[in-house]
Amino acid sequence: MASRELPQNDPRAAYLAQRAEIDAAIARVLEGGRYILGSESAAFESEFAAAMGCRHGIGVGNGTDALVLALRALGIGPGKAVATVAHTAVATVAAIEMVGAEPLLLDIDPASYTMDPAALAQVLAAPPARLPPIAAIVPVHLYGQPADLAALAALAARYRVPLIEDCAQAHGARFEGRPAGSFGVMATFSFYPTKNLGALGDGGMVTTSDDALAAELRALREYGWRERRYVSERAGVNSRLDELQAAILRVKLARLEADNARRIAIADRYDAELAGLAATAPRRDPRRRHVFHQYVLRSAGRDALRSALAAAGIGTNIHYPVPVHLQPAYLGRIATAPSGLAATEAAAGEVLSLPMYPQLGDDEVDRVIAAVRAAVPRG
Ligand SMILES: *Cc1c(COP(=O)(O)O)cnc(C)c1O
Repeated sequence: MASRELPQNDPRAAYLAQRAEIDAAIARVLEGGRYILGSESAAFESEFAAAMGCRHGIGVGNGTDALVLALRALGIGPGKAVATVAHTAVATVAAIEMVGAEPLLLDIDPASYTMDPAALAQVLAAPPARLPPIAAIVPVHLYGQPADLAALAALAARYRVPLIEDCAQAHGARFEGRPAGSFGVMATFSFYPTKNLGALGDGGMVTTSDDALAAELRALREYGWRERRYVSERAGVNSRLDELQAAILRVKLARLEADNARRIAIADRYDAELAGLAATAPRRDPRRRHVFHQYVLRSAGRDALRSALAAAGIGTNIHYPVPVHLQPAYLGRIATAPSGLAATEAAAGEVLSLPMYPQLGDDEVDRVIAAVRAAVPRG
């Protein structure tokens, strides 16, 4: 009997798991008559910010806008550079260009797939020629695992350059017991449906514990209005969180801890059952709570493994197949670290994301394990 196709991710399963509550939340908003920035958004902003260890949450249209507004709140635009990584969703780099600043792409530490503190130290000590001053550092907590926040925050403090954490994949991750998102001056989140906390549409949030930045962000997201509606104190944009998504996200936030625990349990099974194969499992660092937005296996035979899994009806993904500096839109025109991007380029050819979502059943995890074991030789 042919078994069902197993997707790599399944946001519909997350909806079905809380269907009655989500449907009730939607009905409540529809009846309420307020559809943008109302009581649901306000409640979700404070509930989410508290869960992430921050004083303020500012709901915005999506995770890319969250980065754009965080950069703008610091006055970052043309004539400024922003250090980030090339091994990320293109959104991180697109946001930096959207404000008119110049991205400077750094290499990753290959064990964690996150910003290499040594590469950051080097460009802060000796900024590349012809590059404007580095005005912000944007590490990405990729796949759900925090970057080395101790090292990065120390460098940010030493050189007085603000740190903005791209937490789009890391809702609920922790570094040395503290929530990812509470280390930088601001953190940005996405609620794209497949993220660890996903809406049923677009959504995003900036979190901060700085009162002045929070006020600035609230103005920027709505045309620069501050004291008076319809009077712009400065030029802003329209990027708001809608009430339907906020109400849905409140229902799902209540389950974030349990969902992350399930992701970690699935990762533990993958780790235990795939040990000894000629493929590298994600590094588990006791200082970092990895919430497994993705479970990424690394193998020199990645493409063959992917084909074998596809033949067995198992969906996989590659996050990300082409580093940002090598994508057609950026090739040859984007600043990269003088020390190069060797670890980034090597990872892009070998990473493979296995099925990972909280509703994945134990029998389905077994199916993935059996298929990987059949396809990968012992190491
Ligand atoms: C998803 C994602 C974003 C962008 O979020 P959107 O809501 O899709 O705009 C930014 N950075 C990273 C690392 C992401 O994974």
